[in-house]
Amino acid sequence: MTSAPTRPLRLAIIGAGPAGVYTADLLTKAERDFEVSIDLFDRYPAPYGLIRYGVAPDHPRIKGIVKALHKVMDRGDIRFLGGVDFGTDLTLEDLREHYDAIVFSTGAVRDADLPVPGVDLEGSFGGADFVSWYDGHPDVPRQWPLTAKEVAVIGNGNVALDVARMLSKHADDLLVTEIPENVYEGLKASPVTDVHVFGRRGPAQVKFTPLELRELAHSKDVDIVLYPEDFEFDEASEQLAATNNQVKTMVGTLTNWLVEDQDSGASRRLHLHFLQQPVEILGGEGDEAGQVAGLRMERMELDGTGNVKGTGEYIDYPVQAVYRAIGYHGSPVPGLGYDERKGVIPNDAGRILDENGIPVPGLYASGWIKRGPVGLIGHTKGDALETIGCMLEDQPDLWSAANPDEQAVIDLLESRGIEYTTWEGWLKLDEHELGLGATATGSGPVQRERVKVVPREDMTRISRG
Ligand code: NAP
Repeated sequence: MTSAPTRPLRLAIIGAGPAGVYTADLLTKAERDFEVSIDLFDRYPAPYGLIRYGVAPDHPRIKGIVKALHKVMDRGDIRFLGGVDFGTDLTLEDLREHYDAIVFSTGAVRDADLPVPGVDLEGSFGGADFVSWYDGHPDVPRQWPLTAKEVAVIGNGNVALDVARMLSKHADDLLVTEIPENVYEGLKASPVTDVHVFGRRGPAQVKFTPLELRELAHSKDVDIVLYPEDFEFDEASEQLAATNNQVKTMVGTLTNWLVEDQDSGASRRLHLHFLQQPVEILGGEGDEAGQVAGLRMERMELDGTGNVKGTGEYIDYPVQAVYRAIGYHGSPVPGLGYDERKGVIPNDAGRILDENGIPVPGLYASGWIKRGPVGLIGHTKGDALETIGCMLEDQPDLWSAANPDEQAVIDLLESRGIEYTTWEGWLKLDEHELGLGATATGSGPVQRERVKVVPREDMTRISRG
């Protein structure tokens, strides 16, 4: 079939995080000889996914990305439908009936598993869950037990740094950001004195990035503590530091911090440990049974290739909380195949595959649910471009929806009593949150950037009001 289509291609994108918005934007701008009509769904009443609920509030550069996404959505050629849960409110069958193609950009939002004994003790937390808490995620309880004086953060990625920075920073220094009031109160009452971040490999193998590392040094009244015995470099590390500018910068920053005296007598310390692998989260005894009381680490050594092997030497750290920031993991999407090991929907360059490895016509993936939870937000663009490329290649065979009318899906949502939200609704909620920030007085004279609205019912009410 090669004749020109007589109506616009109807596309549903599931997930209004960066991957979903980039995918929609790139398709609207792509060279093509047919019209498109795009609906961008999200299970939450507000758009932006992990930008709203996964980025640390003191991360100023992220605002630029939000502005760019806002501009895309504000053009008016992509319809946002929030508060619609794929799998519950709408099924794959429903979407098949109303759309010619569907892109899943559902991301990866849960914590990867850490298979060590003690991981279920009270005080052992997923880093992603903590991020959700401080970002005011509607599905996470408002209270977080910040009772530990000594805390461990496992992992050497940017999430570990975010978590460690948020745990160690003084709450008053976060007041200008958009942290919700309950988060400010929780952090303000935290008795924490020492946050220990553990990387299982060496300083040349960290996964975090230079800007994020340097940000650590900007926290007031927090000293960074490093340990000379952790500064081991094998042949592969030296080669990497010589040839990779990013690694060179980070090794340089860390080494400078090690040799310069960082001890200013601050009331809180952020320790960066390397070459230590978690072996067991230790429980307490007596009254503290069932609660985290320590963390057992094995000292590792580099094996020449940049990987590590155990030395058989163990070190116990007395900590009362452990945060696992060892990466995100995807979750299955109802009705689609799922690769549990990688946490992705099986796909070939974005074309979703069936159980026999054959592309399913009209079904695509983009973002972290396509390629796994790696890369900065900007990388999602290239990835969306690849998916769009496949869709454009496939386009002669796409027109398949039985009921492609734009109003039909709205009628369906309304007939099911789904309280969906729209872009206009988000603008209302956005303005409301900014207004709450401008007039916030509860925490002192500092003007807040925004105060996020939770719970979800309130978000929906304000959006639809
Ligand atoms: P990540 O970058 O993949 O880092 C995961 C870390 O956990 C690595 O250091 C890894 O060590 C370690 N790890 C994995 N399994 C472990 C285990 N069993 N025991 C001990 N350590 C273990 O993941 P992420 O920090 O969740 O970040 C995900 C993505 O989001 C990244 O691309 C990140 O840059 C991005 N992000 C960016 C920002 C930002 O501010 N720009 C903020 C948040 C997230 P190995 O290297 O040895 O595997």
